[in-house]
Amino acid sequence: MSDETETTTRETTAGDRDARGAPDGAGGLEAGEPWLGAHVSIAGGLDRAVGRAEELDATALQIFTGQPQRWADPGLGKADVEAFRSALEGSDIQVTVSHDSYLINLASEKEDLFEKSERAFRSELDRCVRLGLDYLVTHPGNATGGDRPEALRRNADALARAIADHPGPTTVLVETTAGSGTALGWRFDELARLIEAVPGPQRERLGVCLDTCHAYAAGYDLREDYGGVMEEFDRTIGLDRLRLFHLNDSRHPRGSRKDRHADIGEGELGDAAFAALMGDRSLDRVPRVIETPKGDDATARDRANLGHLRALAGR
Ligand SMILES: [Zn+2]
Ligand SMILES: [Zn+2]
Repeated sequence: MSDETETTTRETTAGDRDARGAPDGAGGLEAGEPWLGAHVSIAGGLDRAVGRAEELDATALQIFTGQPQRWADPGLGKADVEAFRSALEGSDIQVTVSHDSYLINLASEKEDLFEKSERAFRSELDRCVRLGLDYLVTHPGNATGGDRPEALRRNADALARAIADHPGPTTVLVETTAGSGTALGWRFDELARLIEAVPGPQRERLGVCLDTCHAYAAGYDLREDYGGVMEEFDRTIGLDRLRLFHLNDSRHPRGSRKDRHADIGEGELGDAAFAALMGDRSLDRVPRVIETPKGDDATARDRANLGHLRALAGR
């Protein structure tokens, strides 16, 4: 993806952002407008991500604090933290999210992979706390050993230890998965068991990120029965645990258990699913972040997808 696409539209869009009001975070934006944004690149420094989000008129942003396909600890200096925080202060961004490395498997029965994963996750949470991020999204691990209850237990224990050892403002969100291979957490009831297995005090800093592509690929019919899916989420996990939506269309059909994101309205989910979700005012408090394909011009494509979502919200 292209990372050098910023700076030109900032001045021309500043007026629009001001008109939407409430950059101070007190109570957020005007009633009826949920926080909305995108996963943005940190190329050139974490603070640059804020500028990229602003180009999208976003009020939420998601980043990787490291390289998602590498184990190397990226480190985080005081200057990085200060630059990021001061960029944030001058912006309209209200909700900040990190997504952990794809390599992490906190459920692994293989000792060396588990240890590496735990080290990486703890270091990730430490960076999130220091940056003052609201949320850290983590994928439940893979039960490669075949024993799902045991894998779930290991995953829950590792989450609990990390949370206990890193006090701070960051809430950890376990993400619904598509259920590829041996991935845990593709059924809501399994995610509920993972959360249940974390002791009470740590569980308070635990929530769920619902990814629309993953849930649909896992079999949840957000396209034809948005209300029914959300009812099931409430029955099994509880809507009070729902803290973030990842809004992505799905390249593969319902029940495929394949995780391939598509542009909003261009995949198997289609406009109807997103219109239902964006129109559901009972969940306006839940921020939304897109992780749709970036193509050659990430800003233009993200703007198009966010514009499409705003239009579907019809407000
Ligand atoms: Zn994810
Ligand atoms: Zn996601």
